[in-house]
Amino acid sequence: MGKIVLLDDSLSNKIAAGEVVERPASVVKELVENSIDAKATRIEVFLEEAGLSKIRIVDNGDGIEEDDVKKAFHRHATSKIKDENDLFRIRTLGFRGEAIPSIASVSIVEMSSSTGDGPGTYIKLEGGKIVEEEKGPSRKGTDITVSNLFFNTPARLKYVKTIHTELGNITDTINRLALSHPSIAFILRHNERTLLQTAGNGDVRQVLASIYGMNIAKKMLPVSVDSLDYSVRGYIALPEVTRASRNYISTMINGRFIKNYGLVKAIQEGYHTLLPIGRFPIVLLTIEMDPILVDVNVHPSKMEVRLSKEQELYEVITTMIKDTFKNQQLIPSAYNAPKLEKEKSEQGEFELDPFTKEIESSDLPFINTNQHLENTYIKNEVDSSYLSNPQRNHVIKEEGNRHVSQWETTKETKDSHDTTNHTLVEQVVTNQQAVVKEKREANPESRVPVMYPIGQMHGTYILAQNENGLYLIDQHAAQERIKYEFFREKVGVVDRELQELLVPFTFEFSTDETMKIEEHLEELKKVGVFLEPFGQNSFISSSHPQWLPRGEEKEVMEEMIEQLLSMKRVDVKKLREEAAIMMSCKGSIKANHHLRQDEIQSLLDELRQSEDPFTCPHGRPIIVHLTTYELEKMFKRVM
Ligand code: ADP
Ligand code: MG
Repeated sequence: MGKIVLLDDSLSNKIAAGEVVERPASVVKELVENSIDAKATRIEVFLEEAGLSKIRIVDNGDGIEEDDVKKAFHRHATSKIKDENDLFRIRTLGFRGEAIPSIASVSIVEMSSSTGDGPGTYIKLEGGKIVEEEKGPSRKGTDITVSNLFFNTPARLKYVKTIHTELGNITDTINRLALSHPSIAFILRHNERTLLQTAGNGDVRQVLASIYGMNIAKKMLPVSVDSLDYSVRGYIALPEVTRASRNYISTMINGRFIKNYGLVKAIQEGYHTLLPIGRFPIVLLTIEMDPILVDVNVHPSKMEVRLSKEQELYEVITTMIKDTFKNQQLIPSAYNAPKLEKEKSEQGEFELDPFTKEIESSDLPFINTNQHLENTYIKNEVDSSYLSNPQRNHVIKEEGNRHVSQWETTKETKDSHDTTNHTLVEQVVTNQQAVVKEKREANPESRVPVMYPIGQMHGTYILAQNENGLYLIDQHAAQERIKYEFFREKVGVVDRELQELLVPFTFEFSTDETMKIEEHLEELKKVGVFLEPFGQNSFISSSHPQWLPRGEEKEVMEEMIEQLLSMKRVDVKKLREEAAIMMSCKGSIKANHHLRQDEIQSLLDELRQSEDPFTCPHGRPIIVHLTTYELEKMFKRVM
């Protein structure tokens, strides 16, 4: 007799559950996505013990017809696609018909659903077996409760992390769903505490404010771009707002939150040297495209997608972000200067979700513009107890007289006395318009205002002033930026203005290095390193471009060669970029170096000429600003 048997439904559902329902957050994701697919405009999520003991989701969507209720618990039963054709035109979040049966197979599920005409249906299952079925309430929509998750799969239960982590994952999931569906009102409650509440009025910035706090939401600029195949909309944070993980970059394709490495890279590339190394921006991008261009059927939890024409999309996004910052004054206020030191302790990537991190950092009030939301933050991981956010009552007050960064315009300074008359969101809009206005009025040649040097502090910072207040400039960072732009241009078109050497430089390498170098002699020439093989494992160079940093020519060339050796795939553009950054650092005035008044003046003049005067090539800020108003406030000359 043959040995192959067909697995029964219950077993195959459990197997599928291994993929679809990894943890409480995946259950929440699948169920909320079902509510979204059912066109709900209000979705409430109630949790107990981070979803392990109970997840209840109530929606006001289309509901399920009586005849369909049982079918929904069958594997591959779906109302969302009918044939192969539909598979390539997926507009809904679900389509695999796996979630409901998988979840039911590893928990106790109770569901009431009604289409609103006549009575509804109530059904209860334990481990996927129906144990009760009767008429239910006729309220239109679906109310589903999943309890004792993983009660019959102890191994899975062990895999679940601390309550804190699981709750973090769920919040993260809901945050992203809320961001991608601003027209749906979401409520997330855990043990009676409200963790998120959105208005569902379609305003993405309000959702951003609910999640990240108004201070951050105000520092996010709207972006949009359309190409032949793609339409991209979203918000990107000013470079002064950074995070230690790329987890704050949210990308949606056709309403579905997805993880795509290429997209994240494209976004980072857009910020380029505006961000410090190892820091990431807060970004929300929603991308719409013909569903035919995206294959969502590559991953059971549908988090990954395959894109056709992805290169085009990446380029569109990088350019969009670059263009957004090109014309902006990006001088942060001294009050809001990046808090690098403090945040260094943040953990590795994808460890904590943005929400958890956000509510942990007490300097960023977690506020909601519409509801009286109970603000909470998680005290510690062990008992995951909650404390009311002590800052909550101060939020509005703080906003009224908050410190404004320079680019946010003088308008705000003028108006800030009567801000109480406006809602916070109105203020945001006003700021935004003002930014655009300022952009137009700004001197088209330089984004750095004219400033007059006062002097130098600790041989490190330049102090300067103008009618808008006091500026502090990091002299080393400023010179690095200036040099970087100089070298970037030079190395970009290596001309033949060569310095001949009386005694050629000799370079020695190991055998494998020699082989790699021989293979890439042409690329090296493109960054100004001219090598000729010279015996075994060595090269000589008898000339070099004039512009190499004086006195450090050999060292610089060596570093460029090392750069090439460290590259998996040799890329001239990258090589040039790295070389420019490296050279900019060489011979720049360091800290503790006295500058004469005329030297200060010419440094400031050069800085004004540079293309990106606000950050050094490593992404550190160059200028911070204290407005006159801020100073007056400090000394209580104004209230
Ligand atoms: P899929 O979402 O891939 O179709 P699911 O197993 O998640 O598969 O759900 C099965 C079916 O149950 C759905 O196609 C839908 O018809 C129905 N359903 C599930 N949840 C809801 C809900 N909240 N409101 C309306 N219908 C629902
Ligand atoms: Mg589904």
